[in-house]
Amino acid sequence: MKNSEILDFLKSKNEDILDLLKKSNSIRNYNNITFSKNVFIPITHICRNSCGYCTFKKYPEDVAELIMSKSKIMKNLKNADKYKCKEALFTFGERSDEIDSIQDELNKMKYDTMTEYLYHISEVTLKETELLPHTNCGIISKNELKMLKEVNASMGLMLENVSPRLMKTPAHELSPGKDPKLRIETIENAGKLKIPFTTGLLIGIGETIEERVSSLLKLRKIQDKYGHIQEIIIQNFRSKPGIPMEKHPEPSFLEILKTVAVANLLFPDVSIQVPPNLNNETSQMFLLAGADDWGGVSPVSKDFVNPEAPWPEIEKLRNITFEAGFNMVERLPVYKKYINSEFLSEKILKKIEDINSRYGANF
Ligand code: SF4
Repeated sequence: MKNSEILDFLKSKNEDILDLLKKSNSIRNYNNITFSKNVFIPITHICRNSCGYCTFKKYPEDVAELIMSKSKIMKNLKNADKYKCKEALFTFGERSDEIDSIQDELNKMKYDTMTEYLYHISEVTLKETELLPHTNCGIISKNELKMLKEVNASMGLMLENVSPRLMKTPAHELSPGKDPKLRIETIENAGKLKIPFTTGLLIGIGETIEERVSSLLKLRKIQDKYGHIQEIIIQNFRSKPGIPMEKHPEPSFLEILKTVAVANLLFPDVSIQVPPNLNNETSQMFLLAGADDWGGVSPVSKDFVNPEAPWPEIEKLRNITFEAGFNMVERLPVYKKYINSEFLSEKILKKIEDINSRYGANF
């Protein structure tokens, strides 16, 4: 697809939108919508950035526990095991170990960096539970990615947008880690290391339609070069009380719908994910536009990034998927085509074998 064609699609009106939806549907060759049953573990809410739309970040003085303890993490993971979750989603604020109080806390536990702690937690997860770690990594170095690959089934970092202009807007003016150059570098390093990767766009944070096009094309270029992007999330900005961007308008339903359809056309080799909890009323329409994955859905934990938006129950999600004409199928945090020794460590491949034999499945 050419730049101008994508732009025309994203700017389309009335009957042209129906044409776009038809076009997107014409390349659909599947009837399954996937999801990953997960548990969300916020290892720390401390973050060096301050994004204008964030409700996840907390300040050290406002939290009782700076870093979630190993015992608390294990309790949550064991509970998730009971609910047959397969994914342990580890999330944390970016480069929190640049903050003194976090560094002190890590040192008390005999770790130098948050990545070391995360490595240890991921390793124990593989040894003591039936879950596969997926880490939302933030900006980390190539060496750190390499280290975590050994104990993670997949990793993720939202590109959000390629526009450096946003670094001067309320969305990212206080967030050095949102420099698109750094994010692209991390996504590319994951590609060089062959780490199955989740990324995506955040829509409605002040970007122009042209900047959305550039962001999609940049991801296409990265995928053509490395082939490691397993899913692209199209996530809509949601206004929440108390955030700096509280008064910023949310993107319209049609803007998201068109972006989903265009992403599907541009990435026939990648899953397109729209989080159902951010789009309660409209999520079925995104399936009709080409989305084929609901992402992580948890029966045991809330979405700590969007705490005001609970995940729908899995059965309810299954019903709305069926009503839209599809089947809902569980997947692992790594997509099937990446389950091989080129992309996964021996430890992870062994764990997947265990999971398959435990559940009599062929994930
Ligand atoms: S959105 Fe992520 S990177 Fe930005 S402040 Fe919140 S936790 Fe940090």
